[in-house]
Amino acid sequence: MTGLFDSFVRCINYLRISVTDRCNLRCIYCMPPEGISWISHSELLSYEEISAIVQIAAELGVNKIRLTGGEPLARADLPKLIEMLSQLERVEEVSLTTNGTLLKKYALELKQAGLRRVNISLDTLKADKFQKITRLGELKDALSGIEASKEAGLHPIKINMVVMKNINDDEVLDFASMTYKEELHVRFIELMPFSKVAEPVPASELRWRISRSLGMLEPCPSPPGNGPAQCYSLPGARGTIGFISPITEPFCSSCNRLRLTSYGQLCPCLLSDEGIDLRGPLRNNASAKELEHLILSVVASKPEQHKLADGIVPMKRNMSQIGG
Ligand code: SAM
Ligand code: SF4
Repeated sequence: MTGLFDSFVRCINYLRISVTDRCNLRCIYCMPPEGISWISHSELLSYEEISAIVQIAAELGVNKIRLTGGEPLARADLPKLIEMLSQLERVEEVSLTTNGTLLKKYALELKQAGLRRVNISLDTLKADKFQKITRLGELKDALSGIEASKEAGLHPIKINMVVMKNINDDEVLDFASMTYKEELHVRFIELMPFSKVAEPVPASELRWRISRSLGMLEPCPSPPGNGPAQCYSLPGARGTIGFISPITEPFCSSCNRLRLTSYGQLCPCLLSDEGIDLRGPLRNNASAKELEHLILSVVASKPEQHKLADGIVPMKRNMSQIGG
């Protein structure tokens, strides 16, 4: 067997990297409105350090990289990092998760730097609600970011909607209907209980609501991307509808990923407090072999499953720090 495997024989080929904990928005389910202590610039991994870690991980078997944050486009010169990573020999694709509000400015530059695809977070199509959910954002910026990504050829575009009961779940049909008109892939994400802003809505209920109003959802293959979504399509639709439901429909048994925080902790799971520092050894001139051992120890420590259903939530890092 070649490649990187954990103790439960899951193939680990995907690394999700948070490049910053900072963000130009303050989404209610992700960040508090104020009082956040930011990571200082000297604590952040430099682009050269990120690239060195990715190179070693790639030699072990990781071939897909996704950049996230905080808001990854809030970090200066992100296209430079994308160019560095996409030139690494064994890296097959570099993608990005973003709130989209800065994409109008950067989409073409990102594409030219080697970015394959974007996932854009969008929780409402109503301008006033967008302001309430993001506290600082404007809907028009996110929408023009989606348009700019299409024009730049960043296909397939996935739209991630975190569904919150009595906040935006009245818009689920509008989001599902977006897949009729064009090849957009909508992902309904189950709200995770990092804070108590709202109740989640189970995927089973969303599928029932969509099928009842828009027609039978047919299971279909996922578009390129390696995501954990259960995919469906509506009759005659050009795009797909996916459900990412870590609590009610956990997908741990097929998890293929590791996570690297912006300050250099390599973590085996989004939903655990475990992690090993790579920044210290890297800055103390650890050899590639030593770093390889550290990466392998994180892979070996990957838990079989998270414990969200038992109410156990990670305490040390929030989503914007580990990179959702
Ligand atoms: N700023 C970028 C964005 O919003 O796409 C990237 C970072 S954000 C932390 C990554 C993803 O995590 C987004 O799709 C966001 O909606 C999701 N997320 C954040 N907090 C969440 C929560 N409590 N439950 C479910 N998803 C969450
Ligand atoms: Fe920022 Fe993304 Fe968190 Fe919203 S979800 S506050 S855009 S990091």
